[in-house]
Amino acid sequence: MTDCLFCRMVAGEIAPDTVYEDDQLLAFRDINPQAPCHILIIPKQHIASLNDLVSDDQLVLGKMVLLAQRLAAQEGLAEAGYRTVFNCNEEGGQEVFHLHLHLLAGRQMSWPPG
Ligand code: AMP
Ligand code: ZN
Repeated sequence: MTDCLFCRMVAGEIAPDTVYEDDQLLAFRDINPQAPCHILIIPKQHIASLNDLVSDDQLVLGKMVLLAQRLAAQEGLAEAGYRTVFNCNEEGGQEVFHLHLHLLAGRQMSWPPG
């Protein structure tokens, strides 16, 4: 058993509110949503952070971004707009050290982010 929360979801030890799954990716609703729609998209493979990406990960990373596009459309929020975020390490606000792309939508976003 791994101590990585998101690897435990991939392994089926914890059941998230899944919105999409295939052989490489899992997407589920954030437990503490920061917008009316807040989905996390993760690779099934454990990658700790953006700093750990290597060129072999390009395909899965591209799939994550395309899935964000597709889920925003599926949620009916693509035209209004949305935000995608990778938090990296402490100053980036990363709390779970398994790569994840936040898809936030359903409200007006502000800039700069907090
Ligand atoms: P980050 O701060 O970028 O590492 O984001 C981690 C995200 O994981 C936060 O938005 C949390 O609310 C979310 N999270 C933590 N535990 C769970 C869980 N069990 N199910 C769904 N989302 C979670
Ligand atoms: Zn993991």
